[in-house]
Amino acid sequence: AVSAANSVVSSAKKTPTAIPSDCVINLARGDPTMYQPYWRRMGDKCTVVISGHDLMSYFSDPGNLCWFLMPELDDAIRRLHRVVGNAVVDDDRYVVVGTGSTQLFQAVLYALSSQDNPDTEPLSVVAAAPFYSSYPEETEFLRSGLYKWAGDAYAFDKDGAYVECVTSPNNPDGTIREAVVNREGGKLIHDLAYYWPQYTAITGKADNDIMLFTFSKATGHAGSRIGWAIVKDKEVAIKMVKYMELSSIGVSKESQLRAAKILEVIAEDCVNSGPEKEENFFEYGHRLMSERWEKLREVVKRNGVFSLPKYPRDFCNFKGKDTDPSPAFAWLKTKDGLNCDNLLREFKIVTRGGTNFGVDSDYTRISMLSVDEEFNLFLERLAAIKGTMNGNY
Ligand code: PMP
Repeated sequence: AVSAANSVVSSAKKTPTAIPSDCVINLARGDPTMYQPYWRRMGDKCTVVISGHDLMSYFSDPGNLCWFLMPELDDAIRRLHRVVGNAVVDDDRYVVVGTGSTQLFQAVLYALSSQDNPDTEPLSVVAAAPFYSSYPEETEFLRSGLYKWAGDAYAFDKDGAYVECVTSPNNPDGTIREAVVNREGGKLIHDLAYYWPQYTAITGKADNDIMLFTFSKATGHAGSRIGWAIVKDKEVAIKMVKYMELSSIGVSKESQLRAAKILEVIAEDCVNSGPEKEENFFEYGHRLMSERWEKLREVVKRNGVFSLPKYPRDFCNFKGKDTDPSPAFAWLKTKDGLNCDNLLREFKIVTRGGTNFGVDSDYTRISMLSVDEEFNLFLERLAAIKGTMNGNY
């Protein structure tokens, strides 16, 4: 992991520092620092001023089921989903805010496993491989008696209740996914962290029972630690709120206010965008991501050592045209079965190897969300691999 001292952009500094050409580049995490220039360009448009006497109470909206959710954030979340058209947010859906969607994932596991469950055994939690590497870690961490990690959904053959995590677009491989187990007694968590126009075509409004979104990947503000769940079932929402009460008595109001402001500004810019206007955040993000993917594909094609998945073009309702997906991670594979993560480490590129995601080590996951300098250095080093290897490794 990148230590704070190693990080190329210190949180206190405003401009990225130059990266020494021989330093290790860490692309193992999906830290979305690439969006910082956009937000810097926005100047004070998203500045929030908080006085010493503001936001002191635990409570935000005592009459609401999610009593710690600030009404401003609730409104901003629903508005942005309506503008983008990526999720159903009708009035009968509950919004539950969390300290990142990481906390909400655990809140959902608690909510689903503590419902009237005829099984005395822990509820099985599965996801189709390759799956987001945090799911097994978060599920197993506290050795809960309520739920347990049961691995790859494709291999799951137990009877009874289970929870399947459906991540779409998927982390790590960027594919569009649906549930694979599809059996009686199954409950689904849809993790839609990357269902935003900069990463994929918005093909319809997601309307699943439990949907997780995160401020981190939507706008790049990972440090605010804001995520939200959109939940159909009232009892599930109540249990999630209960979990939040016990684990952190709510969510930082400073963060909520900042998130509300930024989401409002994005939605407003999307509504007001036109040919003569500045590009909105998602257009900017998609352009940048597409450029990066194009450059990466070019390098991979030229050096012949690796392969990348191909993604179908699709019509994006938000952009009003066909678009190529540009996932947040590159799912790189060595053509001859070598350990891909180890190979890249020899060239001072740190990634997260396939075994973390439930598949073989010839795959590795590389963040596409780093700052420009890091991304460009990564491409340079990747391009050099063929020359060094001389085709005989
Ligand atoms: N789900 C997925 C699929 C993710 O990739 C991430 C972030 N890497 C998260 C959830 C967690 O996001 P947050 O920062 O909101 O905790």
